[in-house]
Amino acid sequence: MASPLQPVRGTRDLIGDEFRAHRHVIDTSRRVTALYGFEEWATPIFEDTRVFARSLGDTSDVVTKEMYSFTDRGGDSVTLRPENTAGVCRALVSNGLTQSNLPRKVFYAGPMFRYERPQKGRYRQFHQIGAEVLGAAEPLADAEVIAAGWDILVQLGIADGVVLEINTLGDAESRDRYRAALVAHFTAHRDALSHDSQVRLEKNPLRILDSKDEGDRRIVAEAPTIQPHLSDAARGFYEAVLRHLATFGVPVRENPRIVRGLDYYSHTAFEFVTDRLGAQGTVMAGGRYDGLVEEMGGPPTPSVGWAAGVERLSMLLAAPPAAPRPVAVIPVAEAQEAAALALVQRLRGAGVVAEIAYKGNLKRRMERANKLAARAALILGEDELSRDVVQFRDLDAGTQETLPVEDAIRRLSA
Ligand code: ATP
Ligand code: MG
Repeated sequence: MASPLQPVRGTRDLIGDEFRAHRHVIDTSRRVTALYGFEEWATPIFEDTRVFARSLGDTSDVVTKEMYSFTDRGGDSVTLRPENTAGVCRALVSNGLTQSNLPRKVFYAGPMFRYERPQKGRYRQFHQIGAEVLGAAEPLADAEVIAAGWDILVQLGIADGVVLEINTLGDAESRDRYRAALVAHFTAHRDALSHDSQVRLEKNPLRILDSKDEGDRRIVAEAPTIQPHLSDAARGFYEAVLRHLATFGVPVRENPRIVRGLDYYSHTAFEFVTDRLGAQGTVMAGGRYDGLVEEMGGPPTPSVGWAAGVERLSMLLAAPPAAPRPVAVIPVAEAQEAAALALVQRLRGAGVVAEIAYKGNLKRRMERANKLAARAALILGEDELSRDVVQFRDLDAGTQETLPVEDAIRRLSA
């Protein structure tokens, strides 16, 4: 035998409980966002590299270290998407949707790819759900998209112990003033900063606030906050978001250290965090990105949204949804197999999960039913077939009775 092949480092197979938890997270978020009027989009999992290089900013961790980029056979540089906001904005522009019917509320779910050091809750192929409100400049859009995210956590039963941390990054005017204050602070501590942050100091000092380096964290703790530098307009916007969130009933903790890792954000920045996942405590993160659609070649289209890690949400679930338990249909002998097949199809048609073993005598097929954790077995012999009845065996109670086929189907589909 050839030596068995392993999955690529940082990738995982989703099987059994893990897959059901994963699907439950996506199904729940799909259902909740639909109630808020979001429509689902699917964009390609790889894009022209420029889609990300333009939008994420050339100092972001994602662009400098994490992208899976390669030259394809036609000589084009393409990248496996590290996130989906840029792709959704690219799609809005490519499909000529920037002028009509705004705001558009978009939901997505799918795999993302980042070359990271794999650890619990951090993978190279992971999955995100996300919600975007495209073409809305009003603070109510920020609050509503956040409320939809919170509702998902509530519906998943994992809102306990999760807190919304929120901040504002202000408007351009506020941020220019803030940037100057940050540059002064970090320049005074330049030699103590990590190499990466020294580079960020030149290119994008705000990004230092998001550094995960321990030494940087100490200097960041002493850094000025944006609040005293906010313009009246930016402060008013932020206060309106907080007011609407209170109306929606979303519990909020203001945290002036929240910045987003990507360059395209302004005004609202937020993360849903938990202490139940160790270092990987951010489960959902987002903000307002008023300039991104323009980066993609569209008109000014103020927008706001978030993305959440499906793996991290799955890990918070108390228990994955149970696998459905089938009904096993069992012909006593070869002669009843055709009738058994007809019955199994009738059950499926009535919405009952039903199975028939491919081979074996009565005993073998009963063993198979037990292996499948069947809830009931319908046994069909020559005598039953002639009277249009089945032996109905309740495999939990261990009881057996003779029932007309119709009654058996009705009971199982109830
Ligand atoms: P982190 O600070 O944990 O690296 P991030 O700021 O890079 O997160 P975002 O780009 O905001 O993350 O992505 C939104 C969410 O996607 C995160 O809050 C997290 O739940 C999830 N996520 C991000 N990267 C990974 C990964 N490599 N593996 C699993 N989930 C991830
Ligand atoms: Mg990251």
